[in-house]
Amino acid sequence: MEKKMIPLSVPSLEGREWDWVKECLDTSWVSSAGPAVDRFEAMVASHVGSSRAVATVNGTAAIHIALRLAGVQAEDEVILSDLTFIAPANAVRYLGAHPVLVDAEPDYWQMDPGKLENFLVRDCISKEGSLFNRHTGRRVRAILPVHILGGLCDMESILSLAGRFGLPVVEDATECLGARWGKRGAGTLGLIGCFSFNGNKIITTGGGGMLVTDDRGLAERARYLTTQAKDDPLEFVHGEVGYNYRLPNLLAALGCAQMELLDEFVRRKRAIAAGYAADFDGLDMLTLLRERPGTLSTHWLFTVLVDPSRSRLGSRDLMRRLDAQGIQTRPLWQPMHLSPAHRGSFATDCSVSERLNRDALSLPCSVGLAEEDRRTVGSAVRRLVSGGCA
Ligand SMILES: *Cc1c(COP(=O)(O)O)cnc(C)c1O
Repeated sequence: MEKKMIPLSVPSLEGREWDWVKECLDTSWVSSAGPAVDRFEAMVASHVGSSRAVATVNGTAAIHIALRLAGVQAEDEVILSDLTFIAPANAVRYLGAHPVLVDAEPDYWQMDPGKLENFLVRDCISKEGSLFNRHTGRRVRAILPVHILGGLCDMESILSLAGRFGLPVVEDATECLGARWGKRGAGTLGLIGCFSFNGNKIITTGGGGMLVTDDRGLAERARYLTTQAKDDPLEFVHGEVGYNYRLPNLLAALGCAQMELLDEFVRRKRAIAAGYAADFDGLDMLTLLRERPGTLSTHWLFTVLVDPSRSRLGSRDLMRRLDAQGIQTRPLWQPMHLSPAHRGSFATDCSVSERLNRDALSLPCSVGLAEEDRRTVGSAVRRLVSGGCA
């Protein structure tokens, strides 16, 4: 008998996906414009509480365009979370700019505002209304906090530093659609926010992304740049070098159906996190990612830290043992300051992100995860880290 596998995180297409896609096929609206694109943009904008939204082929493209709209140019620097999936660091480099990597906070694992402040105060100087990194001589142009794993960065501190130093904030909110800062949606706190609808995100279009902003001019620029900067579509006149970055209508149709499920998915992700928290109660070798006070986390990817000095197994051994039992888990990303792709980037002390990378393990948390399967994972982890028969 084939052994059942409990996957890390798989999409759930349980809503009206067929209906929405069928409508596209019936009307032949499949390409990069169409009613589903408009509808999907409106649904996301209204859910997060933003006045404009522009759908893109993926989240990386949304970040690329957002940084360009924030004024990032070649040889500028963009301040970025060190502990992140690589996409935002790559987007910085697409513009010929350079990331400045800021360590993670020990408590919430997001960009450390204290280390951000140290960088701005000690490592930068103001000249002629601009901020420069005194070590590299480059202009510091924007802050790109990445809200990882469904939770939020300390936006109060980051926005206040951004205001003090005159820097725009672009939020990488690709992992936290549906999360809230008080009443405000993640992605609406800075100048521009970016989302992803990749297959592993909380909702998916197969592949897709979106940027949101309250600035009408920026939204129009985003629409223009993502459609090849077309000035005269009939005579093929293009005002500048643009991109073919718009989301096809066919994929937006999936997005509309998935948006109808978002609140339910957030509810289930939070219930999974609460379930694991109960499963792991009293285990002092496991640290769970806490929800920052005043915010609502989606707990998009449920992740624990395994203390190697107290646990019977370290995170990687635990991963291998769980895999042998048909339970798929995964470590967090290699911190950007260690990434061969971004070697030589200016970085703060990044000891926390290194420790998180060493000890973290993400556990199965698909929105369709059955409670029974979660309990199976919970007790397998419990047994392996404690060595008991619990
Ligand atoms: C998924 C992700 C992205 C990029 O999204 P794509 O749609 O895959 O291009 C960007 N940043 C982070 C932190 C992500 O997790």
